[in-house]
Amino acid sequence: MAGSSGEGRGPSCNPPCALENFEDCLSEAKRRGTQVCVFLDYDGTLSPIVNDPDKAEMSEEMRRAVNRVSEKFRTSIISGRALEKVKNFVKLDHLYYAGSHGLDIEGPAPPPKERDEGEDEPSVSHRPPGLDIELVREVRHILEQKTKGIQGVTIEDNKFCCSVHFRNSSPDSIGDIEAIVRDVVEAKGLQMKKGRKVFEVRPQITWNKGHALSYLLNTVFKLADEESFPIYLGDDKTDEDAFAKIKEMGTGCGILVSTVVKPTVASYSVREPRDVLAFLEKLAVWDC
Ligand SMILES: [Mg+2]
Repeated sequence: MAGSSGEGRGPSCNPPCALENFEDCLSEAKRRGTQVCVFLDYDGTLSPIVNDPDKAEMSEEMRRAVNRVSEKFRTSIISGRALEKVKNFVKLDHLYYAGSHGLDIEGPAPPPKERDEGEDEPSVSHRPPGLDIELVREVRHILEQKTKGIQGVTIEDNKFCCSVHFRNSSPDSIGDIEAIVRDVVEAKGLQMKKGRKVFEVRPQITWNKGHALSYLLNTVFKLADEESFPIYLGDDKTDEDAFAKIKEMGTGCGILVSTVVKPTVASYSVREPRDVLAFLEKLAVWDC
């Protein structure tokens, strides 16, 4: 089990360990014969969190495990990173990818037997309407200007959103960074969410990792909720939207990756990426 006691009135422990309860975690999929689909966050889930986000490489061992899982189940990567950047990290072309927190979805064409009759379907590509890449670019430039005097701040271009990383900043300056981001985001009509040593700046549209999960299941894989069993592993606040979607569906398994106790709607947990690796290795040989 992960972590020690929580603070204040928060939870005292994370949900049960997905490794120790592996069969329980998947028992419903086995009992109902529903299709397991695997969704994986990238940073802090497949790769360790590192000081330089550009160096968040995943191990060959992890890549092999993801690949083996993808030979058995439809597998998607859902990340806050720009689509191209996360694809370059994972380097598995046959997977489905949702970059920019699910705003930018891409993947191979479904097999012919799953296409609508007579249709020669191209590969999958989807972006929700209302995305304003110019506005996000403008906000990124303003944030770069306003934070350039604060040591350790880096602003990452995630195409349809951006991340203000403060992992390398002094704890004393975090309040100032947050105030700057909040002011700019409010003035420009965007939204922000605090993640692990990062402020995520996103468009003010109703589309998150949960919507990306539903889109992939229902529209791309053509599975009704009751036919599918999504497994989602993620470590941060934006992953909670996907956990919440799974909870709302009433089927599937959300797995929080965390060494510390934190509020979550996930049903299971593991502690860190090496546990994710162990989980994926078990899943690859699971007798479904
Ligand atoms: Mg993450």
